[in-house]
Amino acid sequence: MTQISRLLHDIEAETRLTRTWIGKDHLDTRVMKAIGMVRRDQFVPVEAQAYAFDNGPLPIGQGQTISQPFIVALMTDLLAPEDTHVVLEIGTGSGYQAAVLSLLVSHVYTCEIIPELADAASERLHQLGYQNVTVLQADGYYGWMDHAPYDGIIVTAAAPAIPDPLLAQLKPGGRLVIPIGMPYSYQELMLIEKTREGAIEPHTVLGVSFVPLTGDLGRHLGPDGHSAARPALDE
Ligand code: SAH
Repeated sequence: MTQISRLLHDIEAETRLTRTWIGKDHLDTRVMKAIGMVRRDQFVPVEAQAYAFDNGPLPIGQGQTISQPFIVALMTDLLAPEDTHVVLEIGTGSGYQAAVLSLLVSHVYTCEIIPELADAASERLHQLGYQNVTVLQADGYYGWMDHAPYDGIIVTAAAPAIPDPLLAQLKPGGRLVIPIGMPYSYQELMLIEKTREGAIEPHTVLGVSFVPLTGDLGRHLGPDGHSAARPALDE
């Protein structure tokens, strides 16, 4: 069995293990195919090469991590990507999630707050021939207004509340996938659907553990950790 087919097998096994929470036995076939096409070893540092095809997170420098492949697959599935979609990712990190998405949509815009990671990911994606990904070094709290609205937004760092600019930059009928919770504490992966009429419908999916969303987010939160401008998202 090749390393990639073992990884796909491990993702399928974890999908079945978590079926009670995620509500399905299988992830989308197109998503699994995209995961099978991106060489994760090209996105992790030399010292982590031996573990590149393990179904676990890995350090990528600057205190950050490349997410667990099962979580990348699940978040991509939740986004329901289509060929014509334009999507925004907050938290480029290594560029791996952006590379997976780039095989499924028309364009990926991705923001990374740490300049060294943004530069390295931009260079890596370019070198590897991913032409429909654009990296911006910026605080993703504010989204990326220039290309809004987006069919989908994926946030790969945890926030105590959904940044309001991201909701505003989501198309009606669009999907936002984001881990919500306090840093280094319990976090819940959430799928937020914006209906065609503009209503916000949150769904909790699975308990997860992400590095925190940094930047200006804290300045926009109320004392309870929720967005000062809107009520808490608890259903
Ligand atoms: N998606 C990445 C992994 C992300 S780890 C991959 O596939 O490799 C989370 C990333 O979010 C880190 O690189 C971190 O620096 C970045 N980040 C944290 N806060 C951010 C913010 N406010 N805006 C943009 N990026 C942020």
